[in-house]
Amino acid sequence: MRKIVIAGNWKMHKTKQEAEQFIDEVKQLKTNERVEAVICAPFPYLSSLVNKVKQTDVKIAAQTMHFEQSGAFTGEVSPVMLADIGVSHVIIGHSERREYYHETNETVNKKVHAAFSHHLTPIVCVGETLAQREANDTLTHIEKQIKIALDGLTDEQIANTIIAYEPIWAIGTGKTASSADANEVCDHIRNIVAKITSEQTAEKVVIQYGGSVKPENIDELLSTSDIDGALVGGASLEPASFIQLVEAGN
Ligand code: 13P
Repeated sequence: MRKIVIAGNWKMHKTKQEAEQFIDEVKQLKTNERVEAVICAPFPYLSSLVNKVKQTDVKIAAQTMHFEQSGAFTGEVSPVMLADIGVSHVIIGHSERREYYHETNETVNKKVHAAFSHHLTPIVCVGETLAQREANDTLTHIEKQIKIALDGLTDEQIANTIIAYEPIWAIGTGKTASSADANEVCDHIRNIVAKITSEQTAEKVVIQYGGSVKPENIDELLSTSDIDGALVGGASLEPASFIQLVEAGN
């Protein structure tokens, strides 16, 4: 049985004090073996939050990273640095990074390889724009994103990749894809992965949905066949709502 992974992506929110207080409030959260709770925090807080979640069921992730181990890349953070401070996951290719910071399918692929080289679990984001959806291009667009992102990985690495399907038109807009539509794309993603690797490997891949997920719609999303969790922005900022989201997976 696949895990359920509920990841909160704080994006560029919270002061250090707010971040630490949040962790203090959620750290009593008990997950069962099937559910994983992850907080994707801004870089300056990662080290302190990693220390705070020791002995708890919460994991800490970064929201992006560079693919090189080190070098003259002013302002960037490397996978070595994240692994060194005990971060366990990293979001790669979020649509905001693709749109504002020129991330491409090719840089996403390099970052996924870099993540595995440093024992970080990549959360790879894919998703279509409203224009692509209206032009019926969703499935082709996502197939291309997935094929390039996973290129050159071993079957074992693919099995350990988390894929987050986030339709761009549903992010921060309050518009959620219907659970049926979201599940259709997640099922398509699993079929693409099966074609690249094998059905067996594809069955192991955790596929999250993201885009206006909240306590009110999580149950329906998780009740589908191919949605194994959520990547949550706005509704992950409040401890009470994050706890409800994780408990929905329990
Ligand atoms: P919202 O949950 O705020 O729509 O954000 C989704 C997202 O981009 C998570 O990565």
